[in-house]
Amino acid sequence: MRKTRIICTLGPASETSETIRQMISAGTDIFRLNMSHAKHDWVREIVPRVRQIALEAKRAVAVLLDTQGPAIRTGPVERNLTLAVGDALEITVRGASASLPNSITVNYDDLIDDVSLGDTILLDNGVMQIRVLEKRDNRIRCEVLTAGTLSSHRHINLPGVHVNLPALTEKDLADVALGVEIGVDFVALSFARQRRDLDELREVLRKGGSNAAVLAKIESAEAVSHLDDMIRGSDAVLIARGDLGIECPMEDLPIIQRRIVKHCLRFGKPVIVATHLLESMVSNPVPTRAEISDVANAVFEQADAMMLTGETTSGRYPVECVKVLDRVARRIERSGGAGYAKEAILEDVRQKTVAAAVSLANSLARSKIIVFTRHGTMARSVSNLRPERAPIFAFTPNEFVYRQLALCWGTHPVRIDFTDDPNATIDAAEGYLRAHSLIQPNDKLVVISDARAGSSLVDCVQLREVK
Ligand code: PGA
Ligand code: MN
Repeated sequence: MRKTRIICTLGPASETSETIRQMISAGTDIFRLNMSHAKHDWVREIVPRVRQIALEAKRAVAVLLDTQGPAIRTGPVERNLTLAVGDALEITVRGASASLPNSITVNYDDLIDDVSLGDTILLDNGVMQIRVLEKRDNRIRCEVLTAGTLSSHRHINLPGVHVNLPALTEKDLADVALGVEIGVDFVALSFARQRRDLDELREVLRKGGSNAAVLAKIESAEAVSHLDDMIRGSDAVLIARGDLGIECPMEDLPIIQRRIVKHCLRFGKPVIVATHLLESMVSNPVPTRAEISDVANAVFEQADAMMLTGETTSGRYPVECVKVLDRVARRIERSGGAGYAKEAILEDVRQKTVAAAVSLANSLARSKIIVFTRHGTMARSVSNLRPERAPIFAFTPNEFVYRQLALCWGTHPVRIDFTDDPNATIDAAEGYLRAHSLIQPNDKLVVISDARAGSSLVDCVQLREVK
C-alpha cells in the first residue's frame, strides 16, 4: 500500500467520467477544484460525478476547493498582447482610459500606490518581467524586460509587498458558499498571510454549517515569516511552490519546503507538496529524471500528499501522471524516510497513548495498526507519527471523516458503524480486513479503541494476533 497521498486538480483534460475513473483507479485520493478557473455550473456537475465514481470504486476520495484568494490579476484583454524587450506597457487603475497601444487593466486599484519607480513587476507566474518607469493619472507606465505574450486574467506577483486586498474577496466568499452547499471536504485559502485569515475562513465555513478542513496555502514570504502561527491556525498546510518560488528567492525554495514539512510534522498537521512535480508531463508521456528526484524528495521528506496542477487540468497525460507518482512513491517509501516525526510534540494524554501504540507497532514484525476514530483525531495522530512499516487502518462511522482521512499519510480509511460494545466493533473491523485480504494469519494487530471501564469509555491499546 502506498503511504504518500495523491491530489489531482480537475480541468478540461480530466473532467470526463472515464478519465476520473482511471485517475481514481491509478491512485488519486483527492480532487482539487481551482476556483481561479472553475465555473460554478461546472463545479456543480463535476463534484457529484467524482462522488459517484468513488462510491462505485469503494474508495475514500475527497474534494478540495481552492480559493483564488487576494491574488492580483490582469483584467480582460480583447486580443493577446505580443510584447518585445523595451516595449512600453501601461497598467491602468480606477477606470483610467488607455493612453498607449499596449495597455492592460488590473483587479487591484492600490497597485499604483504599492509599486515604486524602478520596481520589477512579475507577470504570468514570473515568466514576464516589467519595470515601473512612471506613475501618473492612474496609469503605471512600464518597460518590458522579457519578451512574451500577455492574455487575460494573468497572475501578477509583487514580491515582498503586502497586498491591500481582504483575505477573502467577494469572489472567494461566493466560491466558499458554493463549497459549503455541495459539501466539499477541504477548503484552501490562497495567499493566506496570517493566522487571522484562516480564522476568518473557518468562521465563514462554520456559519454556513460546514465542517470542511481549512488548508493554509503558503505562497508568500509574509506567510513564511510567521509559519508556526499559520500551521497552528490551519487543519493542513499546502506548500504552493508555484507562487512561493516567485515571492521568495528560488534557491530558498527547497529549504523552505523542508522547513514547512518539518514544522507541520512537529505540530501534527498534514502537509502537501504542490506544483511542478511533473511539469514536463503536461506535454510528454514520461517525466524528466529531475522530476523523478523532486517527487522522490517529497516522498522521502514524508509529506502527506503530493499535488498535481497543470499536469492534470490541461496536460495530455493526466492518468499517466498519477501512475508515475504512485510508482515513484511506492519505491521510495520502501527505501525509508527522513524521520522528522521523531520531533512531533506530544501535548496531551491521547497523543501519548497513540505514541505508545506506534512504538509497539514499530517494534513488532508483521504489525498493522487499527484505529477507531469518530472525529478523525486519533487516526491523524497515528499518521502524524509516521509508523515505520505498519499500515494504518482507520475505521470511522462518519462519512465525512472517512473522506477527510484520504489526506493522511499511510492511512487506509474504512467506513463502519460503531456498536455500543467496543469489542463487537473491533471484531467487525477484523472481519472486514480479513474479508478484503488486508490481514493474514500471524499478523500482529495494534488496536487503538475505546474500552469500557465501569460506566465510562477509556482509550485503550491492545495487541491481537490474527488466527
Ligand atoms: P495556484 O496554487 O495553482 O492556485 O497558483 C499553486 C501554487 O501557487 O503553487
Ligand atoms: Mn498559487
